[in-house]
Amino acid sequence: MMRSLDTHALRGQPVIVGAGVAGLLTALRLGDMPCVIVSAAEKPGAGVLASGVGKALGRDEAIADRAAKTLACGAGLASPEVVQQITDAMPHVSEDLARIGVGLDAHDSGAALHAALLAKVHERQNVTIVAPAMLRRLTIIDGHVRGVSLDVGERLLAIDTNIVILASGGACGLFPGALTQGPEIGAGMAVAARAGVEFSDLELIYFHPLTLDEGDARSTGVYAPVEFCKYGVLFDDAGCKLNVEQRDPGSLARDIAVRRAQGRAVFFDITRALTADAFKRDPALNAMVQQCRARGLDPKTQALPVRPAAAFQIGGIKVDVAGRSSIPGLWACGEVACTGFHGASISAGNPLLEAVVCSGFVAESVLGASLSPLCDVSGVRPDRAPLHRQLSMVRQAFGNALGPVRNRAGVLRELDTLSRCSGYDDAALMGCLTMISALMRQESRGVHYRSDFQQRDAVARHSVLTESDMRSVVRTIGRNHFGPTSADAQMLDGVLARDVDFASRL
Ligand SMILES: Cc1cc2nc3c(=O)[nH]c(=O)nc-3n(C[C@H](O)[C@H](O)[C@H](O)COP(=O)(O)OP(=O)(O)OC[C@H]3O[C@@H](n4cnc5c(N)ncnc54)[C@H](O)[C@@H]3O)c2cc1C
Repeated sequence: MMRSLDTHALRGQPVIVGAGVAGLLTALRLGDMPCVIVSAAEKPGAGVLASGVGKALGRDEAIADRAAKTLACGAGLASPEVVQQITDAMPHVSEDLARIGVGLDAHDSGAALHAALLAKVHERQNVTIVAPAMLRRLTIIDGHVRGVSLDVGERLLAIDTNIVILASGGACGLFPGALTQGPEIGAGMAVAARAGVEFSDLELIYFHPLTLDEGDARSTGVYAPVEFCKYGVLFDDAGCKLNVEQRDPGSLARDIAVRRAQGRAVFFDITRALTADAFKRDPALNAMVQQCRARGLDPKTQALPVRPAAAFQIGGIKVDVAGRSSIPGLWACGEVACTGFHGASISAGNPLLEAVVCSGFVAESVLGASLSPLCDVSGVRPDRAPLHRQLSMVRQAFGNALGPVRNRAGVLRELDTLSRCSGYDDAALMGCLTMISALMRQESRGVHYRSDFQQRDAVARHSVLTESDMRSVVRTIGRNHFGPTSADAQMLDGVLARDVDFASRL
């Protein structure tokens, strides 16, 4: 397919980057409009929930209940208007999906839903899938998106377009042992960052507290949902029981992280709860037991070693509910976007609900966009050097500085390291943006916990950052904290001044 791809024929078509649930649904909801999907993987898969898609999407749940839970979880940062708009759409989700030929009853696991969407996209003559391919650059002319450069392995392709929809997922894969099993390292976000887009709340990362600890750096994605706490006991290897009553997942993740930092292992014991009755009541319990057994652990006879793992990036490209970013012509949808729906933490099912509902709003907005004349961007030739050469170093830095418990000293130490290569390494750039956002939020709120600022501010504020603001923000933080003439402030003045200028390499 790649060899015969005629990019001239694709001129002017919306380009959707990412073939997860958000990207596929956006394409399907564009109806007959010809569009392009750029997929990093030749056969895209879904790292989504094992079961319960209908529940996540609010089947049988009252709008008011989901809205109230979302606002409570959001800890002052969830936008009431966005919450209203998304939850109001909840009762129509099943019908909307049925209209494009995807019945929820038949596709209750995330993988089945994704596979059904992919099959529908393949049936559409108006959708061109370019895979495997990576978005390498957004061409911005006079402040508007005018094209994309795609790396298709053996060469670069340029497509002239005034409409790009980023559905490229989050950056949790930058954490060691993340729950995500794919390459979610914020590659799409980094391209948008270099194009000058505004980010919001990048520091807000949801850690799933009860991920199976398999001892190696990468997780295989097995975890016990937090509601399973009712089935068992959590304890550490010193025999101390962890209180799980009325705990939100964020505080549980912190508790486990602190014990692990002290060298203690934490276990989840559900041996007594695994009765035939419990399995009948909760099919997800059975699914988890099977996953554990496949890895040589039997929850019926042994306590499971658990640890927190990065699972969902709440912040991202700052957009309105229809996905419009700060750059005209650039939309974002799904985990890559920050609509303000979640606020400072996530309520169960909301990531999927947001991706499904907002893909409809994005498509509507794209269909209504006025089309300006195209520019020829075929001459734009981005650097083809690997953009994630420092990935293992970046993962270590994320693990050291941005876990469930953060503080200024830890973040500054890693920021100093990463800033040296953020000019040419995309993973390091995402590291710097996330660390600076974490420094900016001098409070503890939702999933963001600062051991040096444990209180929540009276007023909830979003952190907003662009790549070009990074240096001045760090300098201001340094001067305010250490005094303008201190050695620490001078060290921070130098942070981000040492990096290699990315633009000069193009
Ligand atoms: C194990 C697990 C369990 C979950 N459980 C739940 C749950 O119970 N409830 C819930 O609501 N949500 C859950 N989620 C979250 C939910 O699945 C996500 O919100 C959703 O999958 C995000 O979909 P997406 O389409 O935005 O991104 P993704 O599914 O991450 O897809 C993005 C795609 O873009 C590609 N890409 C990235 N950069 C580029 C580039 N530069 N060029 C080309 N392609 C690129 C990626 O390779 C990827 O294929 C879970 C997630 C995981 C990992």
